[in-house]
Amino acid sequence: MAVAVAESVIVEELKRLLPPEQVLWRDYDLMLYEYDGSIDKHRPSAVVFALSTEQVSQVVKACNNHQVPYTARGAGTGLSGGAIPINGGVLISLARMTRILDIDPENMCAIVEPGVVNLRLGQATAQFGLTYVPDPSSQKACTIGGNVGENSGGPHTLRYGVTTNHTLGLEVVLPDGEIVTLGGSAPDTPGYDLVGLLVGSEGTLGIVTKVWVRLVPIGETVKTILAVFGSMEDASSAVAGMIARRIIPAAIEMMDNLTIRAIESRSKAGYPVDAEGVVLIEVDGLREQVEAEAEAVDEVCRENGALKVRLAKDEAERAALWAGRKGAFAAIGRLTPDYYTVDGVVPRTKLPATLARIQEISRESGFRIANVFHAGDGSKTRPIRAACATRAKCFQRRAAASSCSLGAGAPRAGSRSWPNWHPRFRSTAWHPPSTCTPPRPTSLQKRCTQLTRLARRLRPWAAARTWRWGCRPSASISRSTPAHSSGSWSMSLLISR
Ligand SMILES: Cc1cc2nc3c(=O)[nH]c(=O)nc-3n(C[C@H](O)[C@H](O)[C@H](O)COP(=O)(O)OP(=O)(O)OC[C@H]3O[C@@H](n4cnc5c(N)ncnc54)[C@H](O)[C@@H]3O)c2cc1C
Repeated sequence: MAVAVAESVIVEELKRLLPPEQVLWRDYDLMLYEYDGSIDKHRPSAVVFALSTEQVSQVVKACNNHQVPYTARGAGTGLSGGAIPINGGVLISLARMTRILDIDPENMCAIVEPGVVNLRLGQATAQFGLTYVPDPSSQKACTIGGNVGENSGGPHTLRYGVTTNHTLGLEVVLPDGEIVTLGGSAPDTPGYDLVGLLVGSEGTLGIVTKVWVRLVPIGETVKTILAVFGSMEDASSAVAGMIARRIIPAAIEMMDNLTIRAIESRSKAGYPVDAEGVVLIEVDGLREQVEAEAEAVDEVCRENGALKVRLAKDEAERAALWAGRKGAFAAIGRLTPDYYTVDGVVPRTKLPATLARIQEISRESGFRIANVFHAGDGSKTRPIRAACATRAKCFQRRAAASSCSLGAGAPRAGSRSWPNWHPRFRSTAWHPPSTCTPPRPTSLQKRCTQLTRLARRLRPWAAARTWRWGCRPSASISRSTPAHSSGSWSMSLLISR
């Protein structure tokens, strides 16, 4: 009752603080914000569209005053339920903070607001011969703030690393409303790596209002290769073979037959519909190195039973192959109107066994499953018909338990960050009443110390827990370690009737 009163009071206060077009509070409008890309749902009491850091801070302070929880939201494409206001309260949308504040070609970095859509940033920096590497398959919609929240990866993070490897600095509104800047345009600022702590914390440690991102030069040459296989086992061996030969392509993506057929029925991307599995490989860099790597890739694929290895002959063919891969999730929608996506982590050597077990579970449960993998960034996804949510969750737990028994990591939905796997940390960035008291604002130094202590407290706690799906989350990648050395794989399972 007290919470309901507090929530109605906060709605009135938000209406006073912000112009009417920045606050939603009618049930009809709130319905659109009760879910993200995952299977859970919860309706907020209000949604605010912040336009500046100061507004975020004001809203956070108001929530604290009234002891109402709040949750940050970007585009809502997350697969781990991070943007669902599981305890109600205020949803703070950053989706209207869309300015690219600066592109600095000399220092190869850019400063952006959190609502900038991932793909737009790459398009804006291309004129300087630079690109922003982390490219989730959802990049046409997802935001840089959400990428930071989830430490997102994508096809091209195999060689170059995930979001944490490309985040230099953050402006953050802390849980008590204080605004701090961590890091900046120079890499490796002295002191504790608080940027590393914040990246992947899913909005639980603060709301990001500005991001300093690292840009890298666009490779002189790029070659895209499609290898066709008669079995997923051969395809997996080819990928493991490449890494074993220390060939680290810019991207390696795998798709199974169901995915290939879905893609071809939608976009005619050029994948052979009779193949059991395909591997899409991209090598980039200096011309001579790219020629040599492409030859080595061809050799390894053939050694591992590739039926055909095809080099994209021009930019149009390359773009079509990538458009097919990046549209894979949408294409699954042609097979069934309802499906559910789940991510997880699979060590390379365990992939064939994991796939075999997935097939078994598919047969037992009667769900069709399509597999799409990023090699190297470490995620694995399973979608289920919305109408069968309970069965879907049971399925997910079983599949997760199996992947753990095979030595794979926890299912991860778009994220490798751990706090979100426990309900206590899911979705609500800060919930002042009873369990947590917001820290008192002091100096930046003290705040940083608090964050560091918090990190120390959370890590062992996280490691000791059995998580939501019956297994533990994967370890996060160190910021200085490229993704490919993590030894993990990323796969997406699309489950449909
Ligand atoms: C079709 C599809 C394909 C996908 N492919 C990939 C993929 O290849 N790789 C991958 O990693 N993920 C993938 N995802 C998952 C998802 O798109 C990513 O996790 C993405 O980074 C989420 O961004 P968003 O803007 O939608 O964030 P949201 O879903 O809105 O939020 C995600 C989390 O970040 C927090 N957050 C949002 N903004 C901020 C902020 N400003 N400050 C602090 N916290 C914030 C939220 O509270 C939440 O916890 C995919 C999802 C879909 C639907």
